Amino acid sequence: MTQKKTAVITGSSSGIGLGIARGLARAGMNIVLNGIEPEEQIEPIRHAIEAEYGVKSRYDRANLMDPAGVRALMAGADERFGSVDVLVNNAGIQFVSPVEDFPDDKWQAILNLNLSAAFYATKAAVPGMKARGWGRIINIASAHGLVASPFKSAYVAAKHGLVGFTKTIALETAEHGITVNAICPGYVLTPLVEKQIPDTAKARGISEAEVIRDVLLAAQPTRKFVTVEELAALAVFLTTEAAASITGTALPVDGGWTAH
Ligand code: NAD
Repeated sequence: MTQKKTAVITGSSSGIGLGIARGLARAGMNIVLNGIEPEEQIEPIRHAIEAEYGVKSRYDRANLMDPAGVRALMAGADERFGSVDVLVNNAGIQFVSPVEDFPDDKWQAILNLNLSAAFYATKAAVPGMKARGWGRIINIASAHGLVASPFKSAYVAAKHGLVGFTKTIALETAEHGITVNAICPGYVLTPLVEKQIPDTAKARGISEAEVIRDVLLAAQPTRKFVTVEELAALAVFLTTEAAASITGTALPVDGGWTAH
């Protein structure tokens, strides 16, 4: 029997990360879930995934704001499963404010989680991937890794940085059977987006319904939210042999947003 591959998905107790974790488990991988939600909230989800897909899993509440937390997550996964074959750098937060009022601590937190955590996790994962001659790193960037919107300076800067980081690591690992890609979603209706609707309404002086219609979905020619399932399917494809030559890319899944 061939050994199951192991995937670490950061920020996978909710939203896009949880959808990708489910997809990778369905594809037969052991999974390491991570997030800041309490253990008792995630245990039933984790057990259901194990029962449904016949894989093993763990939930690690490592706080990825801090390099030591990222290193602990990666070391714990290695210890439990013996390898990290797939790394999905997904954990992210958002904050919306005009730059002149943007709190310094929010700027730093967004850079720490949305960009630096991917660096520390990648740094920890690459030696094992190189030694085994196989690896997949998937960075969940954003359409905001390719284009900007006002009032999201830290997020847009971090996501553009993540796209640049993706390209760099793809070049460094290309001869080792490792691919590194960024997925750039448009708007997906997860807690991250739900939380920013009132702030955007305040920053722009419009109602929350107008934010959904005139700000969020106005950017997406399809006028529909992207779904978690669509993103999970692409992430799973990137882990297959069929995707072995796809590396260093930033793949928009944005309903046509960045075609503007
Ligand atoms: P979400 O808020 O539903 O989930 C965020 C996850 O990150 C949760 O599991 C949370 O526990 C975890 N997390 C938060 N702080 C953490 C910390 N300090 N340490 C470890 N984990 C932490 O968000 P989502 O919408 O699923 O977003 C996931 C990723 O997708 C983010 O990087 C986000 O920028 C990106 N993205 C989201 C959208 C969207 O429209 N929702 C669009 C483009 C990109």
